[in-house]
Amino acid sequence: MPLICRNCGLGLQGGDDAAVFVCLNCGTAHEVLEKGLVAFSPLTAAITTELAVAGVTHYLAVWRMAVTVTAAADSAWERIRKATAPGPAYLYVPAFSLMRAVMQRLGVSLTEVQPALELDRGLLGSGDRRPTLTEVGAGGGAGGAGRAGGGAGDNRSGGDGALGAAVAPGPDFGTYSPVVVGRQDARTLGHFVYLAVESHEAREVRSVDYRLETLGEELLFIPAVWDPRYIHESNWRLLLREFDGLVA
Ligand SMILES: [Zn+2]
Repeated sequence: MPLICRNCGLGLQGGDDAAVFVCLNCGTAHEVLEKGLVAFSPLTAAITTELAVAGVTHYLAVWRMAVTVTAAADSAWERIRKATAPGPAYLYVPAFSLMRAVMQRLGVSLTEVQPALELDRGLLGSGDRRPTLTEVGAGGGAGGAGRAGGGAGDNRSGGDGALGAAVAPGPDFGTYSPVVVGRQDARTLGHFVYLAVESHEAREVRSVDYRLETLGEELLFIPAVWDPRYIHESNWRLLLREFDGLVA
């Protein structure tokens, strides 16, 4: 039985494994709590890349966690925190996939980079589609939410056929990813991302002594284009200026 948006009455996006259901019409998100569906407003990050990136723009669900961490002075987290000071440093927990590699790679990338996101409440509904979408998406901004499949059939802008052999399957969702990681799970997975960040930089195996407390979390949608060359971001080219310099 399809779930209905409490706000506007249209059907919600989200399959059997969804933890949060999203209304593509009014941009409200709905999480399932004991008392029933509770609505809240997710945030969408603007495209800030300064490069012309070909491909269909997808928006990936990510939890951005505000945390307090007590860690060693020479920890990766302390370095990240100092780099973003006086602003807060966030932990990023991917919410569109339950795959360990995605969690680890994208979570670590975003947490290490701490992108300066330009956030707007809600989703880019069909009513207020932005010009940036048409600039970036090779297929034009027209399609909207119904652009199923993507991935495999997308023409990367030619040229780089070298990758050849391993054809990774593209995303199986449209403009907005599903949200399969709920708020509570994100708090648990925050520890996983945190430890991945620390071990990513550690030269040797050592025990990581830390305390992590989650103060709050927000659901963000981050623009990206599927591109198997971006192995370290789990095949996603994030359309954020902080990732412009990264070599595929
Ligand atoms: Zn709605």
